[in-house]
Amino acid sequence: MNERKALMERVKETADTILEKNNIAVIHHYDADGITAAGIIGKALERAGIKTGFRAVKQLYSETLEEIRDLGSFYVFADFGSSYIEELKKAFGEEFVVIDHHQPKSIKREKIHVNPMLYGIDGGREISGSGSCYLVARQMSKKNRDLSALAVVGAVGDMQDSQGKLTGINAEIVEEGIKAGVLGKKRDLRLYGRISRPLTQFLEFASNPILPGLTANSENCIAFLHEHGIKLKEAGQWRSYEDLNREEKKKLSTALILRLSAHGEPEWKIQKMFGEVYTLLKEERKSPLRDAKEFATLLNATGRHGQAVIGLKVCLGDRAEYYEKTKRLLLEHRRKLRQGIELVKKEGIQEKKAYYYFDAGDRIQDSLVGIVAGMLYGSGAISPDKPIVALARYEDGSIKVSARGTSELVRKGLNLGRALKECCAKLGEKSEGGGHEIAAGARIQEREREKFLALLSEKIKKQLKYT
Ligand code: C5P
Ligand code: C5P
Ligand code: ZN
Repeated sequence: MNERKALMERVKETADTILEKNNIAVIHHYDADGITAAGIIGKALERAGIKTGFRAVKQLYSETLEEIRDLGSFYVFADFGSSYIEELKKAFGEEFVVIDHHQPKSIKREKIHVNPMLYGIDGGREISGSGSCYLVARQMSKKNRDLSALAVVGAVGDMQDSQGKLTGINAEIVEEGIKAGVLGKKRDLRLYGRISRPLTQFLEFASNPILPGLTANSENCIAFLHEHGIKLKEAGQWRSYEDLNREEKKKLSTALILRLSAHGEPEWKIQKMFGEVYTLLKEERKSPLRDAKEFATLLNATGRHGQAVIGLKVCLGDRAEYYEKTKRLLLEHRRKLRQGIELVKKEGIQEKKAYYYFDAGDRIQDSLVGIVAGMLYGSGAISPDKPIVALARYEDGSIKVSARGTSELVRKGLNLGRALKECCAKLGEKSEGGGHEIAAGARIQEREREKFLALLSEKIKKQLKYT
């Protein structure tokens, strides 16, 4: 049978099963993709009149199952669970379903498991956890097509647009959003904050890529904008990039291209500044929620700081109290990320044969170390020729591993999710890992650190065919 058809049949079966239940607990991952995934399922269930509760968790580990045991009479696991099917069966029998996009532990297709990866679709690039949940929600009712906007926020939150645009099923979801009147897409400058940041900050806080002489230098940014005849204010209000007219946008883009080339930046890095951007048309004109990337960052600012429920409320429709809280959390989130990057740059990144490496100890939160590691590529602190492996500590003292790579390395054979899963399988039973080809994580024990690093080094060398 055609794989896509088989996936859609599983989706239909799952949607039908869920609609027959009541008192459902949605257990979801705590990042932007996990929160939008829960928002999509939550909204669909609300519309269907089904009582639902929510719980965000960092990762499904054996102790998590204890914590969630009595939360509902049926469980939906969103944006994780694919490597935990057997454990979930033991704990919940048939009263659960997993809707995920991570690399599954087993390729067996079964009733309680929706994961496009089992049907030949690349869950690292072509669909997110929220995208998988959207397929189910859309099946429940055509009305849920407006939730495509949240699925795009989730995909962008997982950086599935890192090659310049969303592709595969993600691109189909974008088209559905456009048809439903909730999304717009266009090719444009992709620096962060195009809708809500005043122009000077838009340049000053650019981190991917770093803009030579402009990033972290507000005076230079002001001078640069003046020099190109771009006014900072209009009718007493700070202008954002989206407030510029076509000609001004063009002028600014050209000036940035010239500046980066004059500083010897390679062409690929310059081109990475441009790509598709996604606009949530139902959001207010200057709201950060209007841009998919800004929306996703707001959600990360809630979930990765133990406040996922605030982001979830916003996904479910709040634009008052909880929305205001997300903006405050965002400032804190950005401050912590900046501190994290500074700390790593100060303490130094080790270059090993197979990967870059740093151990932040407890100086960077376990929930942020992966984002910091990924940002080091954009900031120019490491080059894209090797993956990066970063360590932090969980509260109980065990080690949080976050690994990040680049699409070029994935093309050459890198699969960080598999590498971490296989290395952890050779460690004690409390050590578990997995994820995607390009980004993965794990938990290991302190005493296993050296063994783990040696195993990982061998794995990566093998994947990248080092001699
Ligand atoms: O759990 P989950 O699937 O949501 O997480 C995916 C992770 O992979 C995110 O933290 C995202 O930032 C990261 N990623 C990345 N670079 C990419 C693609 C994804 O760092 N090109
Ligand atoms: O936590 P971090 O952002 O580094 O996670 C990167 C990716 O690895 C995410 O998609 C996350 O869900 C996954 N992961 C996993 N198992 C773990 C830790 C992280 O599958 N134990
Ligand atoms: Zn995800």
